[in-house]
Amino acid sequence: MEKYLLYINGEFRESSDGKTFDAVNPANGEVIAKISEATVEDARAAVKSARDAFDSGVWSGMAREERSRIIKQISDKINENAKQLTKLEVMDSGSTVRKAGEDVFLSAKSLNYFSKMAAVDMNENVEGLSKAGVSKNIIRREPAGVAALITPWNFPLKMAVWKIGPALAAGCCVILKPAQETSVTACELAKLIDQTDLPKGVVNIITGKGSIIGTELVSNPDVDKVGFTGSTEVGKIIMKNAAGNLKKITLECGGKSANIVLDDADMEMSVDGAVYAAFYHQGQCCEGGTRLLVHEKIYDEFIEKLKNKISLMKTGDPMDKKTDCGPVINKNQYDTVMNYIRIGKEEGAGILTGGTGTDESGFYIEPTVFINVNNKMRIAQEEIFGPVLVVIKFSDDDEAVRIANDSIFGLGGAVWSGNDERAMKIAERLRTGTVWINEYHLLSDRAPFGGYKQSGIGREFGLDGIKEYTESKHIHIDEVKDRSKKFWYDTVVPKS
Ligand code: NAP
Ligand code: MG
Repeated sequence: MEKYLLYINGEFRESSDGKTFDAVNPANGEVIAKISEATVEDARAAVKSARDAFDSGVWSGMAREERSRIIKQISDKINENAKQLTKLEVMDSGSTVRKAGEDVFLSAKSLNYFSKMAAVDMNENVEGLSKAGVSKNIIRREPAGVAALITPWNFPLKMAVWKIGPALAAGCCVILKPAQETSVTACELAKLIDQTDLPKGVVNIITGKGSIIGTELVSNPDVDKVGFTGSTEVGKIIMKNAAGNLKKITLECGGKSANIVLDDADMEMSVDGAVYAAFYHQGQCCEGGTRLLVHEKIYDEFIEKLKNKISLMKTGDPMDKKTDCGPVINKNQYDTVMNYIRIGKEEGAGILTGGTGTDESGFYIEPTVFINVNNKMRIAQEEIFGPVLVVIKFSDDDEAVRIANDSIFGLGGAVWSGNDERAMKIAERLRTGTVWINEYHLLSDRAPFGGYKQSGIGREFGLDGIKEYTESKHIHIDEVKDRSKKFWYDTVVPKS
């Protein structure tokens, strides 16, 4: 059985106390690999490695074109190893093979984008900033420094790349800590990175407990920036722990996004869209459309079609290309989701589909839809992070907006309508980071992604996402050569 090591300063090593933890396949409970469990000492070594690499200028001082070339090498390595990475992702995360294949493809594609962005000169020359009017002003974008990157278990490789890509493009040196539940492809990524020309210490990958090594990374004074994706609860802890040296933070946290179907929507397409929005990756997507808002005029017909469509979904082995719904990540998540199903019933919502599961061999829950839901119910307010959709009826566009915004979260959401203008009016009023019109889940490398309210702080992707890993610096070059013409000449300086 493969034993994965920590990747620190360009070397693969055991954890300082030799401990490992198991990588488990959620489809059957089998152990698929052993992963080194880093200690606080190891986390500190990884930070030192990144700090030394950053301070030496080996990466931040490298020509932009050269940095771009090396990031592209990582992208190419992912493409070359796509088959193996896909297989491991399915085995480690319970992702269906179709989703995992797409994730690996998109990981390489995103890195390709970040490689191009690494070559872009983000510095600006700004005219006329001086009082006296005679100066040159340069606004430089400089790397933020050492970045600790902490990722969740739902899109393991993709999340790792979405963090490493912009950080490297900005010139940062990094320590990546993937979720314990899904560390395998991050460890594989370390092996691929090791085969490129990336200088040692620029990327360090350590595996282990968030509560221990995550806490160390977030509070270590040699770390300048934290990029985190995960639960809102842990995001709040990170914010507190990062306060010691006022680290820059980006938090991508939870969601409970509204998927709004208007009475003029294409019925068949919006039913398909509702299924995709809610049940992609067993509903374990932060931006998932987990609150379905349906106009009362089309409600009965829509619900009937939704029920029929879901009855065709196949739950089972994620390696089977025909499977639509694989297992949830682990026993803990299984229990959490089943508990929410119990809560929904107790709150008086009705079950349209599903409501059942089995954890005998793997953790499978049938796609579950609750109807007769009131937005105040816990199943409508709390993030369940499993295959559970709640449906709420509304009578006009104002009411849809009101319900959609009645949430502590604000990450994604959609409007399905035959009238772009009407949909646009609603989109503008939603307090959320992304709104799709007649689409769902589609993220673009070039468009910022992130949350309003308790869904997070900051944005990923696009120029905004790269800027999150930079500091801006203003350099003023004064061109007033005569000291008596300096704007401060008549202030405090004695004239003799
Ligand atoms: P999580 O429990 O918050 O864990 C996320 C990561 O943080 C893991 O690597 C975890 O390590 C680490 N961690 C845990 N405690 C920590 C601490 N005190 N200090 C530093 N790091 C710590 O989230 P999850 O259960 O893996 O993922 C599900 C959640 O992520 C959902 O709420 C979902 O909405 C959110 N999510 C958000 C987005 C987004 O873009 N907004 C995307 C995907 C997921 P270990 O678990 O390995 O101990
Ligand atoms: Mg696993």
